[in-house]
Amino acid sequence: MDFETVIGLEVHAQLTTETKIFCTCSTTFGGAPNSHACPVCLGMPGVLPVLNKKVVEYAMKMALATNCTINPQNVFARKNYFYPDLPKGYQISQYAYPIAEHGYIWIEAGDEKKKIGITRIHMEEDAGKLIHDENNPSSYVDLNRTGVPLIEIVSEPDIRSPEEAAEYLKRLHEILVYLEICDGNMEEGSFRCDANVSIRPRGRKEFGTRTELKNMNSFRNVQRALEYEVKRQQYRVENGETIVQETRLWDDAQGVTNPMRSKEEAHDYRYFPDPDLVPVVIDADWVARIQSEMPELPLNMRERFVAEYGIPAYDAGVLTSDKALALYYEEVVRRCGQPKIASNWVMGDVLKYLNEDKRSIRECPISPVALSDMIALIEKGTISGKMAKELVEDMYKTGKPPQEIISEKGMVQITDEGQLAQTITAIIEANPAQVAQYRAGKDKIFGFFVGQVMKATGGKANPQLVNDLLKKALAG
Ligand code: ADP
Ligand code: MG
Ligand code: ZN
Repeated sequence: MDFETVIGLEVHAQLTTETKIFCTCSTTFGGAPNSHACPVCLGMPGVLPVLNKKVVEYAMKMALATNCTINPQNVFARKNYFYPDLPKGYQISQYAYPIAEHGYIWIEAGDEKKKIGITRIHMEEDAGKLIHDENNPSSYVDLNRTGVPLIEIVSEPDIRSPEEAAEYLKRLHEILVYLEICDGNMEEGSFRCDANVSIRPRGRKEFGTRTELKNMNSFRNVQRALEYEVKRQQYRVENGETIVQETRLWDDAQGVTNPMRSKEEAHDYRYFPDPDLVPVVIDADWVARIQSEMPELPLNMRERFVAEYGIPAYDAGVLTSDKALALYYEEVVRRCGQPKIASNWVMGDVLKYLNEDKRSIRECPISPVALSDMIALIEKGTISGKMAKELVEDMYKTGKPPQEIISEKGMVQITDEGQLAQTITAIIEANPAQVAQYRAGKDKIFGFFVGQVMKATGGKANPQLVNDLLKKALAG
């Protein structure tokens, strides 16, 4: 049977505000258990939540970046359920009136661009964490995460393959990080995804029954979990079995999904407007102010790099995959005025060394100034491209500016014609057999002479000059 896959994703992004959504406790990750928890976090009787305005503004930024409509009035609602990491017995979320709806983002699907709809974005509070100790029959609760602000971004079921799902997540992640409203750390749970997936015979209009997958902590795991789940569903359908609507947990070590619980329905949560919080009213002036504070977004930057710097789309994609890297690159270009050469050095040597050391561009020992100075030195002919490779390695290891390393190592290129001509004459005299072969038409042997000159000059000869002088000398 030919099946079509249907996927919709729910993403929870922790916002990087300093304080929590309804109290003044710190949102800093970690810390001694329960050291960032107050009576509001603990859900003590009589406490009242006070909304953090920054949370609303961060959610507005995400809404604008994903082409959503911002609701001028939105309402917090109580989502009721019992769990030991939720002392109040309900989570404050949004339900009937979320902050934003009806948006979309662009993803690359094969060679095409595809729009993925955003159903809604809502604000809510995170829950605490349970810690289970294998050597001890007790469990512990840490409420530091309780009340950390989240936005949930729900997609339309527009995604048609696990690869598209991973691509959508990467784009969404990138937008959050560019906006500087989420640190995007998937291992610490700052960016989490639940994946809903179903299959249907190709051509059928109605969706099949979906399962919801949880517990994936990387883009790759989301894709793997979905690939497994699609196969599992197909196998069942082909064998005449039905799909049960349920939540399943991804087991990374085994590479399988296992049932966790049967799916709860919205009515099970007894949502109702939170009487402790007034509706959030957002007027046009507020939206305009947030709009004016929006930074450039990755898609725009990618297209601008191609148009403005004339670099290939591939380069623009790599360079904008990290905002800090894009800013680094732009600084190098601004100073040296050589976009493609700058891109080659940044994507090549600089990223290679950083990747080897698992460092981010923020920790790069080579400053944009140093890299652009080095590019200028190649341009001027002070050093050859080959010497530059060595120089960049030293710059990376020592953090020193190129000029300093050049003078320390005496790395100056030989551009003195007289000196080079002497060396070349000596080499020609010492290798009569090779000279005869070259003159008899064996062009390939030219490389032998270049090698000899480079060896004699310790690699410091200007390659172009060596070429010219050798050709002249060998022509006899
Ligand atoms: P719930 O809270 O019950 O998970 P939400 O509305 O928050 O419901 O999220 C539903 C998610 O599931 C959305 O991302 C939606 O696109 C997706 N979805 C809904 N129906 C299907 C389906 N049949 N197959 C795959 N995804 C689906
Ligand atoms: Mg869900
Ligand atoms: Zn608190």
